[in-house]
Amino acid sequence: MRIPSEKIDEINNANDIVDVISTYINVKRRGKNFLALCPFHPDKNPSMNISQEKKVYHCFSCGASGNMFRFIQDFEKISFFEAAQKLASRAGIDIQYNKKEIANYDEYAKLYDINVQAARFYVNALKDVSGNEGKVVHDYIKKRKLKPGTLTRFGIGYAYNRWDGIMSHFREEDLFTNEELESAGLIKKRDTDDDNAPASYYDRFRGRLMFPIFNESGKVVAFGGRQLFEDDKTAKYLNSPETKVYSKSKVLYGLNFAKDSIIANNYALFVEGYMDMISLFQAGVENVVATSGTAMTEEQVKLISRYTKNIIFLFDADAAGIKAAKRGIELILEGGLDVDIVTLPEGDDPDSFITKKGIEEFKNVIFEKKSIINFIGELYTKENKLNTIAQKTDFIKEIITYIGKIPDAIKRSLYLKEIAGLYELRESDLQVELNKFLKNDKKPFFPQSSIVLPERAKIKNDVERKRIPQEELELIEIFVRGGDDVISYLESNLETDFITAQQVMKAVHYFLDEYIQEGKIDASKALNDIEDEEVQYIITHAVLERDEISPLVKADKNSLIARNSNMKINFMEKAMGVIRKFKIKQIERELDEIKKDKERLQEYVELKRKLDQMIKMETVH
Ligand SMILES: [Zn+2]
Repeated sequence: MRIPSEKIDEINNANDIVDVISTYINVKRRGKNFLALCPFHPDKNPSMNISQEKKVYHCFSCGASGNMFRFIQDFEKISFFEAAQKLASRAGIDIQYNKKEIANYDEYAKLYDINVQAARFYVNALKDVSGNEGKVVHDYIKKRKLKPGTLTRFGIGYAYNRWDGIMSHFREEDLFTNEELESAGLIKKRDTDDDNAPASYYDRFRGRLMFPIFNESGKVVAFGGRQLFEDDKTAKYLNSPETKVYSKSKVLYGLNFAKDSIIANNYALFVEGYMDMISLFQAGVENVVATSGTAMTEEQVKLISRYTKNIIFLFDADAAGIKAAKRGIELILEGGLDVDIVTLPEGDDPDSFITKKGIEEFKNVIFEKKSIINFIGELYTKENKLNTIAQKTDFIKEIITYIGKIPDAIKRSLYLKEIAGLYELRESDLQVELNKFLKNDKKPFFPQSSIVLPERAKIKNDVERKRIPQEELELIEIFVRGGDDVISYLESNLETDFITAQQVMKAVHYFLDEYIQEGKIDASKALNDIEDEEVQYIITHAVLERDEISPLVKADKNSLIARNSNMKINFMEKAMGVIRKFKIKQIERELDEIKKDKERLQEYVELKRKLDQMIKMETVH
């Protein structure tokens, strides 16, 4: 990590956490704080609380919590370094770092950097390539009717038809080692029988039109290459391998370009390949994404569900296309999303269709989309398989497997009604069949514990299981919310030996050090400084907890005075209470010691009396 901590503080102070989070999700003010539907778990009531003043957030449902850096990291799935860069540029703060120091920032940031530079190299190569090689490349682009603006927008480039194109480029620039390029999937190690020979590498992509694959937030994470030369005996399409920043099951090609249009139209078109996506986009259909080279995955469904719940599935009518579509439909339904299907005329894919027939014709096809019932029904009809009772039973059984995936019971029964009407069946018979299916297929798509950030939920559970004493949690609360006088009181009176929870101990020592060195305590800074995630959780919880419950607790006391005085916590009183409790602990400990010594009986009795009195006082408080 190369950004100095003073810079991090500056970035943190220059940004408003509410503004930052508002760029991702809807945030509403409630009292002093702000509330939002938590983006990290399926949230029905706003569970995410944000403190503008303390610059932290905390979800009381799933445990997602942190400062603005963490929010961006978790939301965009990027490194701390990148989150800091984003926040810096938001606030107009310049963070300079030396390219040679790249080795020191984390591996993710480096992979992103390699990918960006590689994309640049490929784009330049597309401009520079000439001669016969250039002719092949540009003929292909012409054939696919890719416009210059489209090439630029999608960062389309070219990988030279040679073994060391990108490798020698990076060697000249002296930016990355071969090992690093290999970890980014750009070059491959040559197999050799001689173990002692130095490793030799070669370019993975050669003689291909290069499509950068972007993640949701527009970062290049990988590449797809389309073969251009006829003598090339390798695959027509070649993708980067999985890397630390690229997991193909988690990426939807084009989502970064399409998301605004998806939100505006409230549906997304799903196509298979990136050329399909690009041609539709170029033709003006912008709410389109591609699964690009994989069958659809659960992660992709979750990803799209953040933007819309309505999917239109577009695919080729060949057997392989139908099979892939069926699996995709199941996943979409399981995810609680709605899906309609559009089949293109046999022999056409979205790219060829729109290139030949144009946008109006395409819109007509979309308009004629089918529900899953009609889609499956048509497949059976086409194969002439809806004649006998046995065939009809097969059909119903298949359709039930789709309906059964829908998590919403009301939606399921609406579908049953539709099927019953269409095929003249009794709804109750269908219901029996559905119940059978539901019994055998118990796996819910978003189970209670299935949270987008399972590691956060785990921290919440772990902390809760530790049953940290109330007074120790209060101590944290006093540190992060109490004023100067209270903290200075704690500084002179607190005996940290009596803290039992190791996480509280860590936090308290940090706060005391900060107070002595900086003269103040900053909860959101603490989250950057303390690495222990359980400690971080306890801190954000302490910042926001009281505000979360207080309006509810006080609701029955209608007097405004009562409400106000109750909302305003007297931290000094609290601090004194905590110190008293610690004193009691101290005496109890002493008593245990004295008890062992018969000659100190008198001392024991006196101390015990003192303790009883203190405990009595405590119950009054
Ligand atoms: Zn949550």
